[in-house]
Amino acid sequence: MIDYSVDSTGVASIVWNMAERPMNVMNGESLAAFSDAVYKAINDKGVKGVIVTSAKNDFVAGADLVNLLKESADAAKALANSFKLQKLFRDIEKAGKPFVAAINGTALGGGYEICLACHRRIAADNPKALIGLPEATIGLLPGAGGTQRLPRMIGVSKALPMLLEGKKVDPKTALGLGMVDEVVPAADLLARAKDWILGDGQSSHVKPWDQKGFRVPEAANTPRGAQVFTAGNAMLRAKTYGNYPNAQYIMSCVYEGTLVDIDTGLKIESRYFVACTQSKEARNMIRSLFFSIGEANKLANRPKGVPTQSYTKIGILGAGMMGAGIAWAASSAGLQVVLLDTTQEAAEKGKAYSAGLLDKRIKAKKATEADKEKQLGLIKATTSYEDLKGCELVIEAVFEDRAIKADVTRKAEAQLEPTAIFASNTSTLPITGLAEASARPANFIGLHFFSPVDKMPLVEIIRGKQTSDETLARAMDFVKKIRKTPIVVNDSRGFYTSRVFATYVTEGLTMLAEGVNPAIIENAGKAAGMPVGPLALADEVSLELMHRVRAQTKKDLGDAYKSDGSEPVLQLMVEKLGRIGKKAGKGFYDYPADGKKRLWKGLAEHFPVKPETEQPALADVIKRLIYIQSVETARCIEEKVVLDVRDADVGSIMGWGFPPFRGGTISNIDTVGVKPFVAECDQLAQKFGARFTPPKLLRDMADQGKSFYTV
Ligand code: NAD
Repeated sequence: MIDYSVDSTGVASIVWNMAERPMNVMNGESLAAFSDAVYKAINDKGVKGVIVTSAKNDFVAGADLVNLLKESADAAKALANSFKLQKLFRDIEKAGKPFVAAINGTALGGGYEICLACHRRIAADNPKALIGLPEATIGLLPGAGGTQRLPRMIGVSKALPMLLEGKKVDPKTALGLGMVDEVVPAADLLARAKDWILGDGQSSHVKPWDQKGFRVPEAANTPRGAQVFTAGNAMLRAKTYGNYPNAQYIMSCVYEGTLVDIDTGLKIESRYFVACTQSKEARNMIRSLFFSIGEANKLANRPKGVPTQSYTKIGILGAGMMGAGIAWAASSAGLQVVLLDTTQEAAEKGKAYSAGLLDKRIKAKKATEADKEKQLGLIKATTSYEDLKGCELVIEAVFEDRAIKADVTRKAEAQLEPTAIFASNTSTLPITGLAEASARPANFIGLHFFSPVDKMPLVEIIRGKQTSDETLARAMDFVKKIRKTPIVVNDSRGFYTSRVFATYVTEGLTMLAEGVNPAIIENAGKAAGMPVGPLALADEVSLELMHRVRAQTKKDLGDAYKSDGSEPVLQLMVEKLGRIGKKAGKGFYDYPADGKKRLWKGLAEHFPVKPETEQPALADVIKRLIYIQSVETARCIEEKVVLDVRDADVGSIMGWGFPPFRGGTISNIDTVGVKPFVAECDQLAQKFGARFTPPKLLRDMADQGKSFYTV
C-alpha cells in the first residue's frame, strides 16, 4: 500500500500505492502503513527530508467512506481514532525535518490534509487534478486538520468558502489561493521536491503556527475576523436554514479553533468531526450522494448478460430547448449528433446553443477555439430524415403532442437499422402508448432529461410495457456514455419524478386555497430545504402548462380522475386572471424589471388569508410539504413504478432538488422512522385529506418494525 525508500542523498520517499484500488484512499490499513513509513523516516537520522507522493494517477482521494461509517458507529472509538490521526499529522509537522507533498494528481479531503500537514506543497501542472476539502458536501467536515491548517495558512476569509462549499479546484487555482506553494511540469515534480528538501527545506521546516508570535490571519478576535464571521454566519443561515449541522460545525471549528493554539484547535476539530459522523444528516448524505449515486452511475440495475453498447452516432428529433441540450450533452461526450427540426433555421438554432455554451467555456478558459470547432463539427443540423441513417439511437424531443410524436417516430424508424433504439423525452405521455406508433416497440423507451440539460445530471429511464431488457441495458449504456446518472422506472402517469415533484407544488397551492399566508408557504418550502418555494416553482414550471397537463389527465382518466385543492387555484389564475407564470411576467409573483420578484399583491383578494391566530406553525407547513413527497414515493414503490429505493432517493435529490440532508424521499421516511411516519401521515390525512393516507406497504413495514435501509 505504501512504498518506502531512501536514496543516496538521504531523501526518503513515501509513496501511496494501493494495489487493489483504482485510487488511494485513507482507511485503517493504509493509514497504519503510512504511519509506519512516517515514523521510520522521522526516526532515521540519515533521512534529511521526505517526499510524500503517489504511484497512481491521483494522489489520495480521501477517506474510505465504507470504513468511516463502520468505524464511526461507536463515538468514543471514533474520537480516539481521530485523535490518533491528528497526532500522526502533527508529528509530521514537528518532525524536525522537511516533508514535501508532491501532488501528482487529485488530492481531496484527507488526501489534501496530508499535504496540509507537510511543510511544502508542490503540485504537478495537471489541469485534470482536483484539490480541495469536499467533506461538507456529504454532511461531514475535514477532520484531519483541514479546518485548522487551511485558515492558518491562507486566512479565514479564503478558507471558509473552501471548507463550507467543499469546492475542488485545479492546481493553478489552488496556487492562486495559496493552497499549494508551487505548480511545476509533471515531469519535474519529484526532482523539484527533492531540490527543495536539500535546499530551502533544510532551514524552513517549522510551520508559521509553531513559531513565536504567530496569529491566525483574520481570527475572530481581529477586527477583520469579526466582520468575516458575522457576515459568514448570516450568509450560512440564509443558505441552509440551519438544516446542515456540519456547516455550523465547520464555522465553529474555524471560529473556536483559531482563537487557540493549533493543538487545542485540532482537538476541537476532532470533537466536531465525530459529532458530524453521528448525525442523521451525514448518514443520509453519504448514503444517497455517495453510495447510491455511485451505484446508479455504475449501472447497478442494468439487466445482466447484455453486451455493452458503444455509441458513435445518435439522432435527435426537435432542436428546441431539450433537443439542443441533449445535442450538447452527447457531442460533449464525443458522439456524432444529427439534430433534426422542421426548418433548417430551427435546427441551426439548436446547434447554436452548443456554440454558445462553448463560447462561455472558452471565456472561462475551460475550452479552446479548437475544442469548439471539433465539437460543433460533430453536430449536423438538418431537416432530412435520411441523415439519421446509421444512428444507434434516436431521441425524440418534439412538441408534447401524440400525433406529432407518432409521425416523427415512423419517419425516423424508416431510416434506422432494426436494432436501433428509439427513445422519447416526453415529460407526461405514457411510453407504452407512444410505442404504439413504433414498428418495434421492444426497442422503444423513455429517456426523460431535465432542463437545463447541460446542468441537470439525472436521466429518468422509463420502461414501457414492451420495452425489452436489452433496450433498457443499451439505453443505460448511453446515459453512462454522456456522463449522466440514470434511474430506472416503470411506465406510469408522470413516471416517478414528475409525479412526486408535482405533489410539492400541489400541496403549496392547496394551502393557498385554505387561506395559509403565501409568505409562510414560500418560506416553509425554503426552510424545508427545497431550492424554491412551491408557488415560485409553479410560476417557473408555468401555471398554464400545469393546467393543461391536468386537463389532459382528466380526459385520459375519465371517472377515475380525482380533483384536489389546487385545481380551483389553477383555474382562477390561468382562466380568469391570465396570470400564467414567470414567462409571462405574472403568476403568484410579479416580476418587475429590477429582477426582484415579489408575491403578487392581489393574491389576498382572490385567496383570502386566514387571521394570524389561525395560521399554521412553520414546522407544520414544512411537514406537509415534505411528507406529501415521501408518501407519494412510497406509493410509487408499492406500485412498482420505482423498483429500487436508492433510485427513488437519487432521483428526488438530483431530479427536483429534494433536500440532500434528508437523504431523498425514502431516506426521509427512515429518518423519521417508518412507524412514527405512518402515525403522522394518518393524522395529516384526517386533517387535510386522503392524499396523506399511508399505503399498505408502509403500514406493513411499521407493523413489522422494518425500515427501507439497514445503514
Ligand atoms: P420546444 O418547444 O422548445 O422544442 C420542440 C422542438 O420540436 C421545436 O424546435 C420544434 O420546431 C420541433 N418540432 C416540432 N414538430 C416537429 C416535427 N414534426 N419534426 C421535427 N421537429 C419538430 O420544446 P421542449 O421544451 O424542448 O420539449 C420537447 C419535449 O421534451 C417535449 O416532449 C417535452 O414534454 C419534453 N420535456 C420538456 C422539458 C422542459 O423542461 N421543457 C423537460 C423534460 C422533457
